[in-house]
Amino acid sequence: MTGVLLHQTVRDPLPAMARIVFHLAGGRRLVFADQRKFGSMELARDPSSLRGIRGLGPEPLGRTFTAAALRDALKGRTGPVKTVLLDQRVVAGLGNIYVLEALHRAGISPKRKACGLRQAETDRLHRSIVDVLRAAIAARGSSVDTYRDGRGERGWFQVKHRVYDREGKACPRCGTAIRKEQFRGRGTYWCPGCQR
Ligand SMILES: [Zn+2]
Repeated sequence: MTGVLLHQTVRDPLPAMARIVFHLAGGRRLVFADQRKFGSMELARDPSSLRGIRGLGPEPLGRTFTAAALRDALKGRTGPVKTVLLDQRVVAGLGNIYVLEALHRAGISPKRKACGLRQAETDRLHRSIVDVLRAAIAARGSSVDTYRDGRGERGWFQVKHRVYDREGKACPRCGTAIRKEQFRGRGTYWCPGCQR
């Protein structure tokens, strides 16, 4: 939350909230800046032994995150697909924005029961998660709030959002007004026209 890792040269100004600095070769450094002190860092020989890493699901852009793996992970999960995808044990690293954007691309309502999706739908959802993350990385992330990339700059994926933060605006696929609702405690955006 609001913490950031910055890859700098030694000539760049050190941020006031720098907590940990790694001095790298070639006059570069990696800075962990954390204004609100919510972050922590752990040192381990084997990162997979760390408590915070051990229970994580597959890395969404890694080889083990396949359409079949997603289908298996959703099996028996009776909660809404949106909530299940935010569970880091199902797939690692997906937050509210990218889950909502992926569900829109896949044409699936955030409220659908996760275990009730047909195979064609879980296949589409898998493809959409990968596509959304690749597009967001290419745009250096979504700076809707305090997010900054490793160079301390704002990302611009927010201008490509199809549903997130677009309440009342036209869906780029079908023209229906995007709806927003607090759902299970999180702001949830979707298109009632083309997400079933
Ligand atoms: Zn639509």
